[in-house]
Amino acid sequence: MSDALEVLFPVKKRAAVSHAIAMLHKIKLVGLCFNSGLNFYSPSMGDVHLCKQFCHSCPLEQECLDYALRYESYGIWGGMTERERVKERRKRRIPLLNVYSVNLR
Ligand code: SF4
Repeated sequence: MSDALEVLFPVKKRAAVSHAIAMLHKIKLVGLCFNSGLNFYSPSMGDVHLCKQFCHSCPLEQECLDYALRYESYGIWGGMTERERVKERRKRRIPLLNVYSVNLR
């Protein structure tokens, strides 16, 4: 985290944001979808099916899903669609946090 962020954000709230950013960087660098050429945001059922299958062969599938349950509203992450994640959040009682709108004061 940069010095500017250290100054701006209190420690407690900063931890949640740091975790989200670190997880996102890891997924982008190691996740198989990076440079896959697939569209993980397409509404086409054909694309959805291909992306979900692709996720099932990704070594980060579980971590990706854990991250997405907390922070991602759109697209396919960790082998689940947006609607599937909504159901999973309800089942596991996980709140969706938007790192860009977390009250950092
Ligand atoms: S689980 Fe799917 S969305 Fe997540 S990093 Fe792997 S391929 Fe990408």
